[in-house]
Amino acid sequence: MKAAQLMGPGLLEINDVPIPEISPSELLIRVGAAGICHSDLHLLHFPYKMREEPLTIGHEIAGTIEAVGSGVDGRSVGERGVVYLCWSCGQCRECMSGNENMCLAAGRTAMPPCPGLGPEGGMAEYVKIPARSFVPIGDLDFLQAAPLADAALTSYHAIRGAREHLQPGATAVVIGVGGLGHVAVQILRAISAVRIIAVDVGQDQLDLAKRCGADITLESGPDTAQHILDLTSARGAEVIFDFVGIDATAQMSVQAVAPNGAYRMVGLGGGNPGITAEAAGGPGWPWGASIRKSYGGTRNDLVDSIALAQAGLVTVEVARFDLADARDALDRLEHGKVTGRAVLVP
Ligand code: NAD
Ligand code: ZN
Repeated sequence: MKAAQLMGPGLLEINDVPIPEISPSELLIRVGAAGICHSDLHLLHFPYKMREEPLTIGHEIAGTIEAVGSGVDGRSVGERGVVYLCWSCGQCRECMSGNENMCLAAGRTAMPPCPGLGPEGGMAEYVKIPARSFVPIGDLDFLQAAPLADAALTSYHAIRGAREHLQPGATAVVIGVGGLGHVAVQILRAISAVRIIAVDVGQDQLDLAKRCGADITLESGPDTAQHILDLTSARGAEVIFDFVGIDATAQMSVQAVAPNGAYRMVGLGGGNPGITAEAAGGPGWPWGASIRKSYGGTRNDLVDSIALAQAGLVTVEVARFDLADARDALDRLEHGKVTGRAVLVP
């Protein structure tokens, strides 16, 4: 089968590899679509060789069950679904409470095993997965379903964790209206009556934000925090979701969050957390405001995200590419030439 493999820093190749063999507790999935996340770009540019063997990347996977491990109950060949990306231990206290994205087995600052970031991922014709991580999608289109596995899951988790800040009429800011951000705008619209301000560097992205339900769009720059203050009677936004996560957007958030408000950092842009940490202890940080570094989501967040898509409340703006063109799609994403989510089809 064909697979998009990371060969070393900056090197991605489409290779011919054997179809994976499954153990008794696994499923073999015939991939219908695999989304490309900005995290795949971070991975591609990671300066060290991740491991000796090539790694098939891709953690936003939708497809059909092709084979069922001998020890798996309750799943059958032909079922359609997405892959829940936290391959957690399932037994620790966090997992037992449903917080599988916070699995204790992962360690203090690591994340649980995730396809395409350790185990082989889904930018391939087939992928093997733990049977527990399969979540059915009914008749949702694969191109729509694949991005739910991360773009919707992670956005939904960050938003759900800030729900007490989403009172009707409150202001929510979404910084970075890419794969995650354009879904976040729709989730906010669907589950709350907040006023949504979307911030991006690209006009196409800001136009997409409007179509997704943003009330106001702002070009990202040194004055953006002041604009947000001007729009909120100098009080600031009740909640800021940062899907970029660089120094500039952290700084913007520090300057524009309201008292008792929430800053949620989702983007992995390598921004200095010290900016926010220092601010949070310092005179510029409003009383009561909180910071959370948000990772992935729970299995239930994925089920909710699927339900929003099935209800027509979340529609992913998809840029479709053939698997063979994975490199081109990643390059386009890197240069801001993807609006919405790039999705590969094997
Ligand atoms: P994306 O490339 O699709 O979207 C990023 C958007 O940010 C683009 O629209 C871009 O124009 C915009 N942008 C860039 N610089 C900006 C700036 N200075 N101000 C405002 N907007 C700016 O990326 P994505 O796939 O949506 O991922 C977003 C980030 O979230 C990435 O860093 C990714 O690694 C991270 N991520 C984190 C998690 C998690 O669990 N924490 C999960 C998935 C992705
Ligand atoms: Zn666990």
